[in-house]
Amino acid sequence: MATRTRHHLKERIARLEQRYGRPVPPPADPFELVLLENCAYLVDDKRRATVFRRLKRTVGTRPDAILRTPLPLLADVIRDGGMLPQRRAEKLHTAADLALEVGVATLRRLVKQSPAEARKILKRFPGIGDPGADKILLFCRGGLGLGPDSNALRVLVRLGYGRESSDYPATYRSAVEASAPELPTDVSWLIRAHQLLRRHGQEVCKRARPLCDRCPLTSGCRWYLARAAQSRPAGSLPGA
Ligand code: SF4
Repeated sequence: MATRTRHHLKERIARLEQRYGRPVPPPADPFELVLLENCAYLVDDKRRATVFRRLKRTVGTRPDAILRTPLPLLADVIRDGGMLPQRRAEKLHTAADLALEVGVATLRRLVKQSPAEARKILKRFPGIGDPGADKILLFCRGGLGLGPDSNALRVLVRLGYGRESSDYPATYRSAVEASAPELPTDVSWLIRAHQLLRRHGQEVCKRARPLCDRCPLTSGCRWYLARAAQSRPAGSLPGA
């Protein structure tokens, strides 16, 4: 039985990879991932990456370099990253301050050698909760979960992993727990699965109106099958 369910998630991810292609591996440095998270707000991935590159090029990603940069100048460097650049600049200072306290090298070591300890530290950085910490651990190859963001989480829950509720952390935990037994220990696969589920949630399995007619995962999708059953005339058989 376990083999069959493991095959199901792997097959679904394989279908997504067929659709979208193999994703480019993400950055793998824990402090840079913290900066990436905080340098922009409510913008798409492309703009976030552009803002991060400008930060890296003009200021650098060393905590001392960030702290030496006055807030108005830092806010100007990251100005294209959405709302409240001054507030985002303050968060970068807060993150740099904590990175100096912990030590970037220590953080890099902990994500690989002691993920549970690293997770606690990561959650002290601005903008990093359970999902963010899990994602950073995964990208740095210290975690063995999917660490789904909100887009990937929506896909997982609709497919049938976990239960949606008005309590986001509870929904997150339920999906993480429900998918865990099917996950392999191949970190590269897990990273790709995270990226593919996220992209699918952004482009097809959208929050308000999922585009199920364009989805390669309809077969076995709990959400899709429930809607299909509701729209069938009373008394008719599935597929009739
Ligand atoms: S069938 Fe629809 S609800 Fe299910 S994963 Fe695809 S887009 Fe999302």
